[in-house]
Amino acid sequence: MTRKSNTLAPETQAAQALRHIDPASGSVVPPMVATSTFARDENYALRDGYIYARNSGPTTAHAEEIIASLEGADESLLLNSGMSASVAVVESLPPQAHVVAQSMMYHVGLQWLDRQADRGVISVDHFPAGDMDGLKAALKPGQTKLVWIETPANGDWSITDIAAAAELAHAAGAILMVDSTAAPPCTTKPLDLGADISFHSATKYMGGHSDFTAGVLSARKDMPLWDEIRNVRSFQGTILPAFEAWLLIRSLRTMHIRYAQSSRNAMAFAKHFDALPDIQTVLYPGLPTHPGHAVAARQMVNGFGGMMSILMNGSTGRAFEMAKATKVFIPATSLGGVESLIEHRRTISGPDSGIPENLLRISIGIEHIDDLIADFQQALVATS
Ligand SMILES: *Cc1c(COP(=O)(O)O)cnc(C)c1O
Repeated sequence: MTRKSNTLAPETQAAQALRHIDPASGSVVPPMVATSTFARDENYALRDGYIYARNSGPTTAHAEEIIASLEGADESLLLNSGMSASVAVVESLPPQAHVVAQSMMYHVGLQWLDRQADRGVISVDHFPAGDMDGLKAALKPGQTKLVWIETPANGDWSITDIAAAAELAHAAGAILMVDSTAAPPCTTKPLDLGADISFHSATKYMGGHSDFTAGVLSARKDMPLWDEIRNVRSFQGTILPAFEAWLLIRSLRTMHIRYAQSSRNAMAFAKHFDALPDIQTVLYPGLPTHPGHAVAARQMVNGFGGMMSILMNGSTGRAFEMAKATKVFIPATSLGGVESLIEHRRTISGPDSGIPENLLRISIGIEHIDDLIADFQQALVATS
């Protein structure tokens, strides 16, 4: 489905789900069309272009249309998890393609790339997140087909300059994919900054309620891998089903205010704890002391989000104890939901991930800031 030009503000488009009033019932909330197949008309023609649910369906297409509009894309493709979206992109590359990716990013994506490289399907070189000279050195002009960045990036929330990365990737003949999961389109629009694919785990801020998994890719129509990505999704049967798409449409209606509240809370939280002696550093792109702050301020135009990592001072094991001692923060992986989560990241992503032992990853939700600060404070006292 192609994006219709929409002059309304993104908040309005999202809140009204692009105003798809159901013509049959007048339902303000779009109906969920749950079917595996679509009946043809008396001339054996397709009624609305849909054939079979493994290819597409109206509820998923509606969610895609909303996201494409928010991303400034021609099209978006929804898959049943962020990882199936990552898999589809790599599967769509020509054989033996060279890929350049950050050395620290979402750990399962990294594992997938390295695994494909070990199997000889692709070759992969890494560069330190945010390091443009490192990216330039890793590129092989003519051979590199894909540059994969993540900003802000898992682990330390380091920031990569999307426009600069796009310029380097394009000069080498590669396309740029941005994992913008931590910066949804209400704050960053990677395609406007020169990226070729904007990628989100829609499980996170877009979904926002921690009740389903989803992944989404957005691009302009002339993006060379696009048709193949769509084919791979059909072959693998990894399209987002109608129920999850319906939940996602529900969620996108409130994304802007959820993200704004998480950003506000996170900024107050980061400022409060950054100064305390128990804490070595608060890694939050919104703090002027964060090495990526200046670039983040340019490309995250509506808030720095709810993601931060806190490096603890004190004994080895303190961070792990902290993750067990909170009573409001829920000890769980994932991010971008309305509820605040805390995790000892090294336990989740393993000793090879480069994540330090003293790092706590925190996803700040939309609760009252006083409860979040008081909870972290009592955990500091309980583990001191
Ligand atoms: C969660 C996440 C993914 C993977 O998405 P799933 O929906 O869990 O498959 C990819 N990138 C980032 C940055 C993530 O946080």
